[in-house]
Amino acid sequence: MHAVEVEQLNVSYFENIALEKLSVRFMSGQLVGIIGPNGAGKSTFIKAIMGLIPAEATTIRLLGQSTKEARTKVAYVPQRSAIDWDFPIRVLDAVLIGCYPQLGLFKRPTKQHRALAIACLERVGMQDYADRQIGELSGGQQQRVFLARALAQEAELLLLDEPFVGVDAGSERVIIDLLRTLRNEGKTIVVVHHDLSKAADYFDTLLLLNRRVISIGPPTDVLQPHIIEGAYGNPLAFLQKAEVSS
Ligand code: ADP
Ligand code: MG
Repeated sequence: MHAVEVEQLNVSYFENIALEKLSVRFMSGQLVGIIGPNGAGKSTFIKAIMGLIPAEATTIRLLGQSTKEARTKVAYVPQRSAIDWDFPIRVLDAVLIGCYPQLGLFKRPTKQHRALAIACLERVGMQDYADRQIGELSGGQQQRVFLARALAQEAELLLLDEPFVGVDAGSERVIIDLLRTLRNEGKTIVVVHHDLSKAADYFDTLLLLNRRVISIGPPTDVLQPHIIEGAYGNPLAFLQKAEVSS
């Protein structure tokens, strides 16, 4: 089964073509990395398959269903820069939002829901922060809370856009270990990532994008100097300190 199936995806922002004739499939149960230079269309790809921006495609299937049908089983964590961190919400409540598919919007969370949310915070090592405001946390702690929310949602497919940007090394370890555990439990995790030096270690499959599919496959196949040079204009791009992506 494919967790993500996209055929002939085109996305434009006015006259600017962001993605062109993009066709990709991700097997379920894999940890997939999406790499590519700044402005390559990585975030656009995630937003398009989530149905958050207008897109044209012959097929977009998530978990074998339309995006709308699959929505409750898909968790999406946008890029840090796209999140309003000043929004006043407690950590526990941010995680409880993950329970809403089971809960329905107008029912109050029960004791069991709270217990589930706490258990999810424990899995990411954030149980002691349940009563804090999300804006008071460090970048790494905030990402962990979003992961806890995805756990509470019992999502089958996780789409994470640059989850390691602005995250300390300790949190990065916690997050990647958890993503591996989830993958081993059969979930599919798609991560937009710009640090090529870690890409081989982190991912089962890599998609190298630059408006189109440049390469897709096992990291050793994709991270070839001539392929990287074709996409980044520099065969040693993976040695460079990554830019902070827009
Ligand atoms: P990446 O995530 O790979 O850095 P994006 O998907 O954010 O790339 O952007 C792809 C291209 O689309 C870039 O040229 C970017 O400038 C453009 N773009 C992205 N979002 C918008 C928008 N809201 N309006 C206009 N152009 C956009
Ligand atoms: Mg981006």
